[in-house]
Amino acid sequence: MNCTNCPRHCPVDRTVVRGFCQADREPEAATVCLHRGEEPPLCGTKGICNIFFEHCNLQCIYCQNQQISNPRNIQNNPNIQNNPNIQNNFPSSLKGIEAIADRVAEVLPQTENIVGLVSPSHYADSIPALVEALHRRNLHPTIVYNTGGYDSVETLRALEPYIDIYLPDFKYMDPALALRYSHAEDYPQVALAALKEMYYQKGSALPTDDDGIAYRGIIVRHLVLPGQVENSLAVLDAIADISTNLHVALMAQYFPPVEGLPDQLGRTLTEEEYQKVTDHFYAVGLHRGWLQELDAQACYRPDFTNQQPFER
Ligand code: SF4
Repeated sequence: MNCTNCPRHCPVDRTVVRGFCQADREPEAATVCLHRGEEPPLCGTKGICNIFFEHCNLQCIYCQNQQISNPRNIQNNPNIQNNPNIQNNFPSSLKGIEAIADRVAEVLPQTENIVGLVSPSHYADSIPALVEALHRRNLHPTIVYNTGGYDSVETLRALEPYIDIYLPDFKYMDPALALRYSHAEDYPQVALAALKEMYYQKGSALPTDDDGIAYRGIIVRHLVLPGQVENSLAVLDAIADISTNLHVALMAQYFPPVEGLPDQLGRTLTEEEYQKVTDHFYAVGLHRGWLQELDAQACYRPDFTNQQPFER
């Protein structure tokens, strides 16, 4: 029996054993909280209710959320091992659909009535039940699928009735890089097929209500990595090949989350690197989206031992 939640198709029955992502069968959330760090049409003035799921099907070695996404790093990091607040003991750690839905019910009224499913791919088969649990509570938020981009087309087709906005990363077009950094050599072809399916479902428009809050569409994110400009240029080429009308968020916020990372992952992005990528954004005809400021590195360092991980 294989797990079919994501393209790894691990040969495991998750009711008995865990696969690559280390996730249990039941969804677990490290926290459900108000978040103001997403793109403007998702946050408005009030913010979004983000469900930060634990574990991840990519486990990128440079993950910016690795306190919650990468249990292997937690196991190998003595600083984290000795911290009683971590090791799946997050301030508001929630297990199961009903517990997560109850917490969403508390947070959602403070937001723009949008729920973000952050790193949801390994719990994809639970998303319909989670959305239905919200409906039973008379909650009908816009649902944002905030994914690392490593999703199968079959999964996305099954999710189509439940997702309003796709917010995928598009990390790599270089298979060797995808293997080295995210253990997924097939990431380029998988992410490309996934984005084509999202585009088929939602098109390139990002319609908003009278307050400027999006209720349908796609925003593609790309985090520019230090020393990997050529990969970023190829990613922008691939997105533009699907449609130059897609909304793209270029992110410059990379910072080294741990010591000892390979290549040039031990530093932040240079101005010259980011300039090359932003120049290429326009050169390939992309014209919708957001270009993050280079100094954003200081603003996006979550600490999931806090009740509000993005506030210091
Ligand atoms: S969701 Fe987890 S267990 Fe399932 S195939 Fe993906 S990595 Fe493997």
